Amino acid sequence: MKKDMFQSPDHFNIDKLFTEEQLLVRDCSREWVKKNVTPIIEDCAIKGEFPTHLIKGMSEIGGFGGILPFEYGGSELDYISYGLMMQEFERGDSSIRVLSSIQTSLVMNSILKFGNQVQKDNYLKKLSRGEIIGSFGLSEASHGSDPSSMNTTFIEKEDHYLINGSKMWIGNAPLCDIAIIWAKDNINNYGGFIIDRSMDGFSTAKIDKKWSFRASETGELIFHDMKVPKSALLHKSNNIKEALGCLNLGRYAVAWGALGIAMECYDVALRYADEREQFGKKIGGFQLIQKKLVDMLTEITKAQLLTWRLGVLMDEGSETFEQISMAKRNNVKMASDIARSSRQILGGMGITSEYPIIRHLINIETLITYQGTDDIHTLITGRMITGISAFN
Ligand SMILES: Cc1cc2nc3c(=O)[nH]c(=O)nc-3n(C[C@H](O)[C@H](O)[C@H](O)COP(=O)(O)OP(=O)(O)OC[C@H]3O[C@@H](n4cnc5c(N)ncnc54)[C@H](O)[C@@H]3O)c2cc1C
Repeated sequence: MKKDMFQSPDHFNIDKLFTEEQLLVRDCSREWVKKNVTPIIEDCAIKGEFPTHLIKGMSEIGGFGGILPFEYGGSELDYISYGLMMQEFERGDSSIRVLSSIQTSLVMNSILKFGNQVQKDNYLKKLSRGEIIGSFGLSEASHGSDPSSMNTTFIEKEDHYLINGSKMWIGNAPLCDIAIIWAKDNINNYGGFIIDRSMDGFSTAKIDKKWSFRASETGELIFHDMKVPKSALLHKSNNIKEALGCLNLGRYAVAWGALGIAMECYDVALRYADEREQFGKKIGGFQLIQKKLVDMLTEITKAQLLTWRLGVLMDEGSETFEQISMAKRNNVKMASDIARSSRQILGGMGITSEYPIIRHLINIETLITYQGTDDIHTLITGRMITGISAFN
């Protein structure tokens, strides 16, 4: 692994749009990634293991629940600061952003939004300190894009709920101490529950055979006649939209994370083009290479503005989930195109673990699919524009 020389491109002085605090959060996250993630992440990806020793350090720089109130262990960060942190974490590797973002966006934020006081007091501070790790289980093997058809069931008994079923493709599943999971009863209510790993009937399995998100622990949550105390009910609604609403902040984090990947791929390609010589001159002097770099920088700049603006709307509390969809879809596609161009600029070296490009390129394949596929975000945006749903 070469020395991490990363500098974020800023062709339109976009840094001037950020406050001092936002830049501090970004720079602190960047330095942490350079020191702790870059030197080890290629090996972790090759081994297919998450570097769990980083969890404590992540918590110390506000990587878990930074946007939450102080009383629950947060730092009351604004959404742009949070986004910049996600950008920097994912520049290091998707696995780092995923651990932080599941914990913050999907687990802590769900407990903050739906939890009662006891649940907040029991879990939020421990999650913010990284003493416990959470996962969020909505998708199932047979129901990904359409979680409303889920097969996992809950039945209300006198003093507990009985849950049966399983959740598939769940980030942090093999590591998690708790899981927020969603199940359905026989009258189409959706229940969200806080599951503790020690509960009888609960188990997890790791998905080992995957080529994307190699350093992220992904797996299955399995519930076999799992008896859940009544106190573990987080939320009950007859509308799946409430569960889906939990994903908004996760998708927002993906939009910023994808920007981080794109910046890294551009930065690496630009340096390589300045070092590598063919036909007796630097390849950066060839017009076709310059065109690729120009396209990359232009697309990154557009995405920076879109993402910054979304952050402003989030901080105002006036964003819509359709805007989040549009940004997630755009930035992932943009990062995918840029990673491919960067890979080409690096020639054969682009497929080696000497450089981060191929790792990012295959991680993006998951970003295209998870937290709502590219198609699903197209349909969400299309419905917003036309007023007509093309989902089914
Ligand atoms: C590495 C990884 C980590 C994940 N982490 C989590 C997690 O932590 N928690 C969680 O709950 N889930 C998680 N997921 C699951 C993820 O959200 C789903 O994979 C995703 O929603 C897509 O579901 P699916 O894979 O079942 O694909 P499907 O829903 O079966 O889709 C297959 C294809 O059909 C297309 N399609 C589906 N419906 C339509 C339609 N109406 N119109 C047009 N095209 C359509 C899709 O776009 C896709 O191309 C993760 C997935 C991966 C790969």
